[in-house]
Amino acid sequence: MSRLCEVRGCDQRADDLFTSSEAGSPLVEWQVCAFHLQTLSEGGRALISTGRDALVVGVGLPVEVMDVRVVDSEFGSPVVTLTLGREDVEEDELKLQMTPAQARFLCERLNGEAPGGGESP
Ligand SMILES: [Zn+2]
Repeated sequence: MSRLCEVRGCDQRADDLFTSSEAGSPLVEWQVCAFHLQTLSEGGRALISTGRDALVVGVGLPVEVMDVRVVDSEFGSPVVTLTLGREDVEEDELKLQMTPAQARFLCERLNGEAPGGGESP
């Protein structure tokens, strides 16, 4: 086997298979090195490079939304950028395109305020 560990930034040979077994999520397998197999199995975190997306995986890993930014795209739909991380460490950014109503709903729930800030009804 000549594949490399799928954890981002790791260049060890992948000798093991880590299987996500989190309830409610689809079963996914990643080829990882022995070190990361143990890390993930113990509930650790790792950024997995799968194509163009990076997923944070680990047993029972809650990812926190650390910051939310809304930018109006040139096509009229807001793009919401979620900064994801854990324990004050920023790990990834997630960009979502959505309707203005969805963006407003999300920001109200996460930030307790509507996008644009300072606007009074
Ligand atoms: Zn590795």
